[in-house]
Amino acid sequence: MPSKAYLNPADAIEHLKTYERSDGLAVDELMNSKIHGGLTYNDFLMLPGKIDFGAHEVSTESKITRNVTLKTPFMSSPMDTVTEGDMAIAMALLGGIGVIHHNQSPEEQAAMVRSVKRHENGFITDPVVLSPSHRVEHVLDVKERLGFAGIPITDTGALGGKLLGIVTNRDIQFRSPSTPLSEVMTTELVTAPEGVTLEEANDILRDSKKGKLPIVDAQGRLTSLLARSDLLKNQNYPLASKIPSSKQLYAAAAVGTRPADRDRLDVLVEAGLDIVVLDSSQGNSIFQIDMIKWIKERYPRLEVIAGNVVTREQAASLIAAGADGLRVGMGSGSICITQEVMAVGRPQATAVYAVAEFAGKFGVPVIADGGISNVGHVVKALALGAGAVMMGGLLAGTTEAPGEYFYHDGKRVKTYRGMGSLEAMEQGKPGPTSAANGAMNNGAAKRKTTYENAATTRYFSESSAVKVAQGVSGDVQDKGSVRQFLPYLYTGLQHSFQDIGVRDVQALREGVRAGKVRFELRTASAQVEGGVHGLHSYTKRLFA
Ligand code: GDP
Ligand code: 5GP
Repeated sequence: MPSKAYLNPADAIEHLKTYERSDGLAVDELMNSKIHGGLTYNDFLMLPGKIDFGAHEVSTESKITRNVTLKTPFMSSPMDTVTEGDMAIAMALLGGIGVIHHNQSPEEQAAMVRSVKRHENGFITDPVVLSPSHRVEHVLDVKERLGFAGIPITDTGALGGKLLGIVTNRDIQFRSPSTPLSEVMTTELVTAPEGVTLEEANDILRDSKKGKLPIVDAQGRLTSLLARSDLLKNQNYPLASKIPSSKQLYAAAAVGTRPADRDRLDVLVEAGLDIVVLDSSQGNSIFQIDMIKWIKERYPRLEVIAGNVVTREQAASLIAAGADGLRVGMGSGSICITQEVMAVGRPQATAVYAVAEFAGKFGVPVIADGGISNVGHVVKALALGAGAVMMGGLLAGTTEAPGEYFYHDGKRVKTYRGMGSLEAMEQGKPGPTSAANGAMNNGAAKRKTTYENAATTRYFSESSAVKVAQGVSGDVQDKGSVRQFLPYLYTGLQHSFQDIGVRDVQALREGVRAGKVRFELRTASAQVEGGVHGLHSYTKRLFA
């Protein structure tokens, strides 16, 4: 019997080049919706490539608008249970961007934009300040409410006033509550001039052995404060999203497309806004097209992210009107019932691919918005052409999200609600989800409604007598701080890129375009196999 003639193993790689089949599918084969309909992130996987570099070498730098590049492709949603000032600052420090919601008055939203622009890592740029005529009881009140008693005293009782003294815990001990602060404050001050670096300021604090270091301008007016107790906590943020050539973080905020939103935008731009997101569930409208044109004329340097869109046709209108970036997604959000109620929308993976493929020809980046529930979804969105992902539910349970934690069924949770939920549209009815019993204190929801409700304007271009909900209200589990969670997503992303065999987003895109990065569809049973299965019980810890 003749023995089977095997090929020479040494020729295996060479042979591959002439081999008639490649494993998996090219992206256009994967996305052939005529055959298998629209896809979601869970419907496919990427095949592994070759690892010849370390995960730490992977760069996730990518564009979110024509002129804004981020070091990490993460954005937080403009929702009143996701992004206010704290989240926007943390996201920007960690290399992403938080989009401040507009379900609040223009002034409140502008104050948050200002807090992002003024943020200097390590410095308290909005310290509590009192005047000499305030009394000891006012300090006690601050101490009880906010937990600190180191308070600078200025002539106006506000930041920007002339610094006259400082009151600390020891100054108020054994003093009657009615004593004016002018009698107890310390007036021999160690201060540092505006513009001082964090390192220099830290040195001064260490040498002076004081608890607080007020920072003053040339006229002696208070501009910020440094706390000794923060010395050890000051981290470096090498990925921070900053305007090139400036120390300021990028600030982004959402507005609607009604006439009043033009006034709102004026206030936000005045506060230093860099990127505006036009917040609409169906972006292809004459209102939005007019708004883009108006903004481009009035504020040519403001980056405009338009949307939401899910088709090339919708995208074309907004690109033609002048959009610098597009937000993609309709009905894929975790709190969303649009597809169910309106029968309109598109599976997210298909939507991202279609719009990114089209918008890419015009140099307009897209943001994959909604439906991101793990690191794998982020990688898939980037592979399909997105410049960044926008997350709501994944970030809503973090410390930096608005609202207080409460307990629901023994779990520590925070409220997370769709902006198209009746709760958000009616705003002012705070409280735990009807299913939960705990006490909840949502800052955004408590405020007065003295402006057009943003949630209503996002979902309806005209006022209707009946409000039709497009989202639900619920709660999500405590995720700890974004300052730990985002680095987890980032590191996870680097490892995934390494498995795929690409060093950066550009290489991922080129690999996909050239058919070198291959995909595989997942059957229903493949999805079961890909999850944890066959265990009696388990705990899922995601990072340490
Ligand atoms: P104090 O000595 O009673 O003022 O308290 P500590 O210095 O021990 O703690 C103050 C903590 O609160 C630090 O981590 C500050 O960064 C933080 N903090 C936040 N906002 C303010 C503020 O407006 N004033 C002061 N003094 N601290 C603030
Ligand atoms: P998630 O990250 O939770 O899956 O989705 C967040 C995204 O859902 C938001 O960025 C926004 O685009 C979208 N969204 C927010 N609220 C609602 C809502 O009430 N209804 C719908 N259809 N989408 C919403």
